[in-house]
Amino acid sequence: MKPTLKSASKPAPLLAFGAHPDDIEFGCGGVIASETRAGRKAHFVICSRGEAGTYGTPAQRTVEAKKAAALLGATIEFIQLDGDAHLEVRVAHALKLAGILRRVRPGIVLAPSTVENQHPDHAKLGKMVRDAARLARYGGVKELRRSPPHAIEQLFFYAVTPEAEPRDISPVLIDVSAPEIVTAWTAAMEAHASQTRARNYVDLQITRARLCGARAGIGHAIPLFPNDPLVLASLAQVNRGARRF
Ligand SMILES: [Zn+2]
Repeated sequence: MKPTLKSASKPAPLLAFGAHPDDIEFGCGGVIASETRAGRKAHFVICSRGEAGTYGTPAQRTVEAKKAAALLGATIEFIQLDGDAHLEVRVAHALKLAGILRRVRPGIVLAPSTVENQHPDHAKLGKMVRDAARLARYGGVKELRRSPPHAIEQLFFYAVTPEAEPRDISPVLIDVSAPEIVTAWTAAMEAHASQTRARNYVDLQITRARLCGARAGIGHAIPLFPNDPLVLASLAQVNRGARRF
């Protein structure tokens, strides 16, 4: 029997936004590797070429990001907003992001957290993705008329650095302990050689994931922070909590 178009085994794609070429990999690369290996399509939208960074040219950083996305099994596109370190929260940008949501039609959306104490572009992009997820749903927005409205399933925030983890949202811990996932994630982070040469970002993220995993009694875990309450069909879908100590 031919599978129907809306086959339950084919999850809606995952769409991840990054302000800079390496944000997604450092913040939640293991989650991406895990999802694509499970058969979910993943697409990255990068909103600058990292041109304000201390290390690496925009051309180098573009090449690194493409390589990293491929290692995680994701496709990638770059868009131009205000440029690295110049991002501002604007309705026009949120509409542009909403247009991408309508085109890709994801289930899960990942964006940097809106915590203020981090690179300002991260928090601003997180806010605009949250706005875009609403605008994508509204049928009457004239700038978005080219494609039909789209309601995502869940928006999760990821933290690019430990201080970007929201204190007021209880995280969902995603188990990325499988050796092939840790290997793919590490390779994707190392693909950003212009950045990892300068500081040991890979060690920071693997250590953070190890600490998160230890909290839950597993190897490695990446925290994602849901923007809205998660909806479960029943308590049977609840796994055990992370409190081990
Ligand atoms: Zn960044």
